Amino acid sequence: MNAVIPASAHRPIRELPDELVSQIAAGEVVERPASVVRELVDNALDAGAKQVTVRLAGGGVRSLVVEDDGIGIPTGELPLALRRHATSKIASLADLESVATMGFRGEALAAIASVAELSITSRAAGAAQGTRIDARGGELQPAPRAPGTTVEVRELFFATPARRKFLKSDATELAHALEAVRRHALARPDVGFAVWHEGRLVAQWRARTGTDGGGERLADVLGAEFVAASRGLHAVRGPLVLAGRVGLPEAARSRADQQYLFVNGRFVRDRLVAHAVRSAYEDQLHGSRQPAYALFVRIAPELVDVNVHPTKIEVRFRDGRAVHASVQQAVDEVLAQTRAAAPPGPAAPIQEPSPPGAAPWQPSLALAEAREPAPPWLPVGRPGVELPAGGATGLATWALLRGAAGAPAGLPLQRDGAADEWPLGRALAQIGGAYVLAENRHGLVVVDMHAAHERIVYERLKAAQAVGALPSQPLLVPVAFAATAAEVAAAEAEREVLLALGLDVAPLAEATLAVRSRPAALPEADLADLTRSVLAELATVGSSRVVQRTRDELLATMACHAAVRANRRLTVEEMNALLRAMEATERADQCNHGRPTWRQVTIKELDALFLRGR
Ligand code: ADP
Ligand code: MG
Repeated sequence: MNAVIPASAHRPIRELPDELVSQIAAGEVVERPASVVRELVDNALDAGAKQVTVRLAGGGVRSLVVEDDGIGIPTGELPLALRRHATSKIASLADLESVATMGFRGEALAAIASVAELSITSRAAGAAQGTRIDARGGELQPAPRAPGTTVEVRELFFATPARRKFLKSDATELAHALEAVRRHALARPDVGFAVWHEGRLVAQWRARTGTDGGGERLADVLGAEFVAASRGLHAVRGPLVLAGRVGLPEAARSRADQQYLFVNGRFVRDRLVAHAVRSAYEDQLHGSRQPAYALFVRIAPELVDVNVHPTKIEVRFRDGRAVHASVQQAVDEVLAQTRAAAPPGPAAPIQEPSPPGAAPWQPSLALAEAREPAPPWLPVGRPGVELPAGGATGLATWALLRGAAGAPAGLPLQRDGAADEWPLGRALAQIGGAYVLAENRHGLVVVDMHAAHERIVYERLKAAQAVGALPSQPLLVPVAFAATAAEVAAAEAEREVLLALGLDVAPLAEATLAVRSRPAALPEADLADLTRSVLAELATVGSSRVVQRTRDELLATMACHAAVRANRRLTVEEMNALLRAMEATERADQCNHGRPTWRQVTIKELDALFLRGR
């Protein structure tokens, strides 16, 4: 697959040959200040900028400046940059089919210059100084500038009052311009963005280059509320690599104003994908409610045509059906997990400690075998060996999406930085019978051990089940429990499903069920409780075919029962094993019920607690 990230090595600007020009979707590019912002920021990103600053006045109509620290434009090419159909990004029709840059039409600067005053000041990487060109006169003048490019646009539509009339108030135009930058910011967490209006900083997103830059940027741009009311999505489906977050049904909105779709790093509107997402919410959203989501789709450039709309806001997939199915499936699976939030069972008694060396989050042998070829002698949480089959980790996917070539798969499993440090740190103690305290580079880590363990078990069960029926372990002495008529009926009707879950349940006497084998992966679970919950769930599904979604719900129920209970005392080794298992588990930041599994308390926050100025 080609890199989706702009090749920021310098390539000369050339005029496109006529036959290629005729292949390019024609139309109006500049509609309002926001369209200018989009084109200029696209150019900055194509130039490999790490920091992009947008300065607006009068909503961007009066003045609109975009500064970047990219590769710049060599002085000799400045006049060409302003010419229509002159571009450094494609040279042939073949290039057009695999375009990896945001721009390729060679039209934006020319189009903007035709409806506003435009000047470019640029200094190419190797140049001794900057040069300024004014679009109107075309003359070049030396101008001081650090390497990079500034494009200044003034008095948009000054010569076309009819079009200027269509612009809205400054505040509205500013809002649209901000939205344009927001989209870029979501797509490129590794780039810093700042927006100024009338000398005031109105938005700023710092470059996020850490292990979960994408996730952090999502929170920066869409807010903690969106993050709290959404679930992470990472999947490889059909021709797509998908990542992002999808909102919970209960967080749906009355308007489709929080639906961000990116295809190969470009914000697009696509009915097909929007429909696929919406249909995953079927049965959970009332007709007019709109889900919130930020979805990043990556697909081989040959499988998508980005040249169907003059502003490139629409795309066409070669195999729309495969894309629709892949998106729907991936979103559906995420939503299924959240639906898995079964009510927690009755408070369980304190469990006896497990035998030494058998911390419950260490996978049972049966499961270790069911997974990808992980050398069994490697401890849990060793970098790179604990990924379930086909699972892309959050960061790996982000790295893919950002085109960070060579980012090792499963990066988050690795120690944080060069230092001998684990992301969740070293375990220190357990408090309140429920929390594990650990120390990492940033300060204190507090882990909700039940919630964390629940997620780990759930992910393991899913991974194991993807390979087939869950391994089960016969019991020497069956566990019998009193059952209602409905439970007995469900046990008989759903015998196959139960066996696939590793549970052999049979009627023992009237109103009594016996569990004769248990899921090997859940040595600690209270079998009577667990079986009752599973039966209750099966009874509500009815005798219908148990689909994947239901299976996931059942697994979640089982995980909840199997997860370590409050007041269970842990050794430091067990606590560390839990932390390592968390690091190696997908979606480990939230339990199956959507609550956080861990929190960071930074040294700074501790300092603030003790009124220490640092
Ligand atoms: P396109 O982006 O489709 O190539 P544009 O009219 O937007 O067309 O830009 C024309 C050319 O000017 C680009 O191909 C690029 O070589 C150069 N250019 C424009 N903006 C920048 C920038 N900020 N930094 C470096 N080069 C730029
Ligand atoms: Mg461009």
